[in-house]
Amino acid sequence: MIIDGKKISSLLVEEVKEEISAIKKKTNKSPSLSVILIGDFVPSQIYVQNKKKKSLEVGINSEVIRYSKEISEKEVIKKINELNNKKEVSGILVQLPLPDQINKEKIINAIHPSKDVDGFNPLNVGNLASGYKAIIPCTPLGCLLLIKNIESNLSGKHAVIVGRSNLNGKPMAQLLLKENCTITIAHSKTKALKDICAKADILVVAAGVSNLVKNDWVKKGAIVIDVGINKIKDRLVGDVDFNDVKDKAKAITPVPGGVGPMTIACLLKNTLECFKKQNS
Ligand code: NAP
Repeated sequence: MIIDGKKISSLLVEEVKEEISAIKKKTNKSPSLSVILIGDFVPSQIYVQNKKKKSLEVGINSEVIRYSKEISEKEVIKKINELNNKKEVSGILVQLPLPDQINKEKIINAIHPSKDVDGFNPLNVGNLASGYKAIIPCTPLGCLLLIKNIESNLSGKHAVIVGRSNLNGKPMAQLLLKENCTITIAHSKTKALKDICAKADILVVAAGVSNLVKNDWVKKGAIVIDVGINKIKDRLVGDVDFNDVKDKAKAITPVPGGVGPMTIACLLKNTLECFKKQNS
């Protein structure tokens, strides 16, 4: 089965849209997302434009604050503080990557945890790790929703996650642990990676290495989630060799059209959740 991320994400987007419309009718208020974009890195510009377009489509007010790549860290933090204090701003997102003079950690720490729609602030990271209520990073949240769309009870499953980034691998592991999976986290120093992957009931790959996972890395009947986005010439490919693996897996996400659309849908969901919490 090929997991249709476009279809599943559009259902989630529709849900968010309906809820925002109902809130607006009742209160005349709606969520608002401020995105800070620094520099002229083309993929970041495309991501931000897309986020703005999708936000507006569901009724989230969206503004993009643009800075040149020479902007100082102090100026950006000043802006974040201003947005933290603005009651009408529900969510703040600083598009990564950042120019060298700006410390990513300081920027992430500056965003108030209640407006941290990306779920990167250490308070949200800690809450997720402790099993408390947290804002969950959009991509792993999207992956979990895709997995649960295939199988609702994940208890006792062996989940292997390839990649240990703060953005993907680590929060993915926390989410699947919360679902009572048994977790293995693999990374670039892992030995016998193929053998480890071949034991997974659920295999999530977020390594950023094109076509890393082949047919004999996958257990028959596994759920395979491919987070990777790699450009080969003009084509996007994932970290899983899709054609090689698709007939062995029970379910697999394609690239594009798998995890990608879920990421944006979860950003909209997170913005709505922040708004609701701030107004409750
Ligand atoms: P990252 O920060 O570069 O982390 C990559 C992780 O993979 C690291 O933990 C690294 O290990 C591990 N790794 C690298 N090569 C490996 C190998 N050969 N074998 C095993 N592990 C290996 O990347 P990321 O930000 O998590 O992103 C991963 C991929 O997801 C990228 O292709 C990115 O473009 C994509 N992505 C997609 C979405 C989406 O919406 N679909 C969103 C975000 C990211 P070490 O820790 O040992 O270095």
